Amino acid sequence: MSKTLFEKISAREIPAKIVYEDDLVLAFEDIKPAAPVHVLIVPKRPIPRVGEAIPSDLQVLGHLLLKAAEVAATLGLKETGYRLVINNGPNAGETVPHLHCHILGGRHLSWPPG
Ligand code: AMP
Repeated sequence: MSKTLFEKISAREIPAKIVYEDDLVLAFEDIKPAAPVHVLIVPKRPIPRVGEAIPSDLQVLGHLLLKAAEVAATLGLKETGYRLVINNGPNAGETVPHLHCHILGGRHLSWPPG
């Protein structure tokens, strides 16, 4: 099966500004930032989207969220706050079929999203 875009970034086949990496997850700057800080954190082993996660993904999903918070803190967002976003499917605007969590911060983020 062909690699997803984010697998190619993980394999260094496509360049990205990587801000965190461990055995399970990779975090890198979004190429089209929607906020002063906009980082994506992804599981290295692709899950298409959260709606297709299965019970054996429990550990990686928990790890992803814990590391998202750590990365946000490392990027200076702990006190001012930040938003984590996971788009699932067309109505949510999902464009890359490899589960990813957006870490957005550095400005006030309105709610609800448009
Ligand atoms: P989503 O719309 O939730 O599927 O988010 C996909 C995100 O991936 C978008 O915010 C894109 O800007 C981002 N993106 C697409 N290609 C790249 C890339 N080569 N490097 C970093 N981010 C990317």
